[in-house]
Amino acid sequence: MTFERVKKRVVGAGATLADSARGSRSSTVDSAVNTLLQKASQNEQILKRYQRFELKLLDAVGFNELLALLLDDSLAYFQLDAIELWLYDPEQTVAEHIDNPDDYPNLQLVARSEPLKQLYAARPCVQLVPLSQSRSPAIFQGLSLRSAAMLPLVRQGVLVGSLHMGARGHKRFGLDKSTDFINHLASVVAVCFENVVNRERLRRLSMYDMLTQVKNRRAFNQALAEEVSRASRNQELLSLLFIDLDHFKRINDSHGHQTGDRALKIVAQHINQMLRKTDHVCRYGGEEFALLLPNCSPERAMDIAERIRVQVSQLAIRNDEGQALTLTLSIGVSCWQPDAAGEAASQVGECLVKCADEGVYTAKDQGRNTIEFVDYQQ
Ligand code: GH3
Ligand code: MG
Ligand code: MG
Repeated sequence: MTFERVKKRVVGAGATLADSARGSRSSTVDSAVNTLLQKASQNEQILKRYQRFELKLLDAVGFNELLALLLDDSLAYFQLDAIELWLYDPEQTVAEHIDNPDDYPNLQLVARSEPLKQLYAARPCVQLVPLSQSRSPAIFQGLSLRSAAMLPLVRQGVLVGSLHMGARGHKRFGLDKSTDFINHLASVVAVCFENVVNRERLRRLSMYDMLTQVKNRRAFNQALAEEVSRASRNQELLSLLFIDLDHFKRINDSHGHQTGDRALKIVAQHINQMLRKTDHVCRYGGEEFALLLPNCSPERAMDIAERIRVQVSQLAIRNDEGQALTLTLSIGVSCWQPDAAGEAASQVGECLVKCADEGVYTAKDQGRNTIEFVDYQQ
């Protein structure tokens, strides 16, 4: 029932009562009715605000959008003095997908579930808590707030996070307040997080190579198109390293496929941790990797290639019997400098791959375990 319809009914009832009581009692009834109407109006406004906010949350498609809504927009929506979110993130799923952690100073990612459980003791349910007491929960550290609502985020019976709304006034989240709206919001927020985690897992499955845990060929093609456009926009250099493991067939033949698999994984992971978060490490095919390095000069690309070549040749890879084996790489390098003419993005990507691949062939011809630079040309 809308506020207007409630108002008509209550006003009608108020009028009847006032008629029958007459005299001084009628003003008392009027004032009680007015108070009720004001309260109903306030509740309707709050409900509408919550509903609008919940719809926005349900529309959020990624971690960054969801976090921006919860940790920034919510302050104005609910007229809060502070907001804070704790998330259980044992596999660093959230950490990996946040563009810039500094954007969310009020987000705490916890690797263990204990700090969350301690907030709610036996049963996770919405709690309204005074904050000025010595036994107050350890939330909003360093802020002078007087009351807070703690919303447990529970999915499939597991406490996965806790959202805290803080106020300077002690009455805002006083114990006499109803928690109906907040309970509902807690459920919606928990569902939204589960949605983005699931979506992220699906995206990962389709874009990452399961064996090596680096990006796959599809992700490489996508990244290549995006990085060419970005380089063109920003007038920045874009380098590509093409890597082919030397005599890899011999490793499989001598030590078995399992050892070969292990070697691929170790090499990929090692290269991955040598590069920047903004670089792309991709498994291009069987024992071939493509590294896309945005804003990277030919000199720097050659320097990186050399470090990779040396470090991989020193990796401790062991076969199933624990014997050490060594591995070398052949690397082709190329670099694109955007020009004023503005080449088509798809053409640039293709040429860059062709040039770096040509470098690998030359490196193989030169006896392997070496690096060849090929000038970008169409
Ligand atoms: P070259 O130095 O000329 O590159 O010699 P190569 O033996 O590395 O090249 P070749 O193309 O002859 O063989 C590639 C080998 O990589 C053959 C294939 O069995 C192996 N390979 C490809 N993908 C995988 C994989 O996922 N796991 C394992 N264990 N081996 C793989
Ligand atoms: Mg090959
Ligand atoms: Mg090879």
